[in-house]
Amino acid sequence: MRKRLIYLDHAASTPMDPAVIEEMASCMEEHFGNPSSVHEAGRRARVLLEQARRKVAAMLHVAPSELFFCSGGTEANNAVLWGCARDLGYKHFITAAIEHPAVLQPLNRMAADQEIQLHLVDIDKLGRVSADHLARLLEQHKPAVVSLMHANNETANLLPVKMVADLCKRQGALFHSDTVQTVGKYHMNMQQLGMDFAVASAHKFHGPKGTGFMIVRNGHFFQPFVQGGGQERNMRAGTENVCAIAGLAKALEVAHERMEEDQRHIGALKEACIRLLKEQITGVRFNGDVEGSSLHTILNISLPAGIDPEMLLPRLDMAGICVSSGSACASGAHRGSHVLTAMGVDTQLPSLRISFSRYNTLSEVRQLVDVLSGIAR
Ligand code: PLP
Repeated sequence: MRKRLIYLDHAASTPMDPAVIEEMASCMEEHFGNPSSVHEAGRRARVLLEQARRKVAAMLHVAPSELFFCSGGTEANNAVLWGCARDLGYKHFITAAIEHPAVLQPLNRMAADQEIQLHLVDIDKLGRVSADHLARLLEQHKPAVVSLMHANNETANLLPVKMVADLCKRQGALFHSDTVQTVGKYHMNMQQLGMDFAVASAHKFHGPKGTGFMIVRNGHFFQPFVQGGGQERNMRAGTENVCAIAGLAKALEVAHERMEEDQRHIGALKEACIRLLKEQITGVRFNGDVEGSSLHTILNISLPAGIDPEMLLPRLDMAGICVSSGSACASGAHRGSHVLTAMGVDTQLPSLRISFSRYNTLSEVRQLVDVLSGIAR
């Protein structure tokens, strides 16, 4: 029999909701056609695809024509950033050292190739972006594209997106936000929030892996980042993954239906985890703006010195507990987190990212803290 896991790594990926699996299974049986084919089978797939697009667009308050499906957050971030540089002709890009590699790597690459100039906005010890420095950078470098994530995937810090969008608008800049960790966690009105571009990934909100979308507002148009077909109204070539997209739409619908209940439950788990850690582990530290503006699903901690960082995850794994150290998007290897390093956190101390979902219980949180306090002793 398989060991029962305590899964607390939902910022890395989430289990699919049963309603999503059901939706996808029925799609696989009935909607196998290529949505670009003109015959009946193709038309049925197209109907499903466009229904999914309309549903998702309505939940996020954008027009269906502003939503483009693709393989997920990494591709969507790349497509937006390369598109802004190569097709919209922007030369100045402003971002922060705490962004996800799906933003930092394409920007660093374009800067190294002298296609763009990259400007990093200051962050403080809690990992908060300096609004004053951002305003100064926007004043100095015009016109610019600002790329700042909504919630940091390691520290949970929330960016005041509306304030940043207003600032960008005043300075004639475009605003892209990596919203991978927040779509499905909040009711988001993308029109009111005022971003030009936003991206999402289904597997972060109990949908399938390998599918997501980019939102491209205000009539902007790029050459497709992935080329070779006219799909997604010429913005992303390749046959759409119809059943995964139907699953994405279902997952977002379920997330929206139970949003308040999930926010309450998950928020209470995070609070309990903080309280138990403080009670049971002397010297535990919380990284990020935990007392301020913080996403309810993620908690980042540093444990006291004396624990071998290399051994922490394997020991938790042996106890059946799945968490990550820093950001574990690409591999399980212990690498000092670039986010914590940029914040000036002591990365010699073992750090953990604990991330919750609606499937977690208080008993699981208690077991995690018990195991951690045993290791700390
Ligand atoms: N952006 C953020 C903030 C993320 O947390 C992740 C994944 O961890 C990604 C982008 C990449 O998304 P995907 O796994 O869909 O490529």
